[in-house]
Amino acid sequence: MAGLIAAGDLQQAGHDVLVIEKGRGVGGRLASRRIGLATFDHGAQFMTSRDPRFAAAIEQWLRVGVIEEWYRSTNDESAGHARWRGKPSMTALPKYLARELTVLLEKRVVSLRCASQGWVAALDNGDSVFANSVVLTAPVPQALALLDLAELDVSEATKLRLESIEYECCLAVMALLERPSGLPPPGSLSPTEGPIALMVDNQIKGISVTPAVTLHATPAFSLARWDHDRQASGKELLEAAQPWLGSGVTEFQVHGWRYSKPIAGEQEGCLILHERPPLLLAGDAFAGPRIEGAALSGWAAADRLKSALALT
Ligand SMILES: Cc1cc2nc3c(=O)[nH]c(=O)nc-3n(C[C@H](O)[C@H](O)[C@H](O)COP(=O)(O)OP(=O)(O)OC[C@H]3O[C@@H](n4cnc5c(N)ncnc54)[C@H](O)[C@@H]3O)c2cc1C
Repeated sequence: MAGLIAAGDLQQAGHDVLVIEKGRGVGGRLASRRIGLATFDHGAQFMTSRDPRFAAAIEQWLRVGVIEEWYRSTNDESAGHARWRGKPSMTALPKYLARELTVLLEKRVVSLRCASQGWVAALDNGDSVFANSVVLTAPVPQALALLDLAELDVSEATKLRLESIEYECCLAVMALLERPSGLPPPGSLSPTEGPIALMVDNQIKGISVTPAVTLHATPAFSLARWDHDRQASGKELLEAAQPWLGSGVTEFQVHGWRYSKPIAGEQEGCLILHERPPLLLAGDAFAGPRIEGAALSGWAAADRLKSALALT
C-alpha cells in the first residue's frame, strides 16, 4: 500500500517510477487467495479512515468500485464507523492502484547500495536496477537487511530507533467448510479469550461463493507456534473455532505473516535515511499499524521526495 501510493503520487507528478515487488502480485499484506471455489482475504480484513486525505481516497475508490462498505462497528469507541473491504476482495484495491504503474513482479531486492548520483538495487535473478532516488517500503527489519547502515553514515541514534521497531506475527488459517458457518452477520467475530484473535466468514463478507473462514491467531499464540508444524497449529486453531463454525472442515491452509503489524513505530510519516541521493523509508511503521497508516506514509514519502528533488 505505501509503495503503490508513493509510486502513483510520484508518477502523477511527472517522475519515472518503477515498483519492485517480490510477490506474485501486488498488495503485500492486503492479500486474497483462492482455494478451489472459495476466496479468502487472509491478511488485512478491512479499512477504516480517520484522516481527511485517506477519507477522500476512500470516496474515490468507492466511486470506481474497488471497495465497498462491509459493516459499521458497533461495539467499541469507533462505534458507527464504516469498515470497508476490497471488491471483489482485498487485492482489488492494490491492483487498481498499480494499474498504470510499471511493476517488476517476483523480483526480490537482495541489496541496495549507494552509487554516485543514485542507488543500485541488486535483484535475486542477478539483474540490477539503477534509480536516482528510492522509497523503501518493506517492513523495517527487511528494509534494514538490504542496507549497510555503517557505509551510509547513518547516526547511531537513528540506527537504534529503526532497530527497535518490532512487529507482531500472525498465523492465518484459511478453511473450506462443509456448510455455512454459524458466525452471525456481518461474519466477523473476535473471541475474548483463547488462541483466536479474529474469525471472518468470507461468504457472509461477500467475497466467497462457498463457505470459507479465515482465522487469525492472537500474537501470543502466533509467536509461541511460529517455528512449529503449521498444519498442527492450524488444526489447533480450527478446534478452538469449532463452537462458532458448527461445520466440518474439508481442507485448510496456513499462512504465516512474520511482519503483521508494527508494535511501536514512528508517527512522522516517513524517514529520510539519506539526503543525496535520496533514500526514504516508508510503510505502516511510520504512520500507524493499518492500511490507512501505510497510505499516509506513502503520501508523506512522495511529498518529501518531491521537495528533495525540487531542490537538486
Ligand atoms: C493478518 C493481518 C491482519 C490485518 N488486519 C488489518 C485490518 O483489518 N485493517 C487494517 O487497516 N490493517 C490491517 N493489517 C495491517 C495492514 O495490512 C498493514 O498495516 C498494511 O497493509 C501495510 O502496508 P505496507 O505497504 O506498509 O507494507 P506491506 O503490505 O508489507 O508491503 C511491503 C511490500 O514489500 C514487498 N517486499 C518486501 N521485501 C522486499 C524485497 N526485498 N524485494 C521486493 N519486494 C519486497 C512485500 O512483498 C510487500 O508487498 C493487517 C495485517 C495482517 C498481516
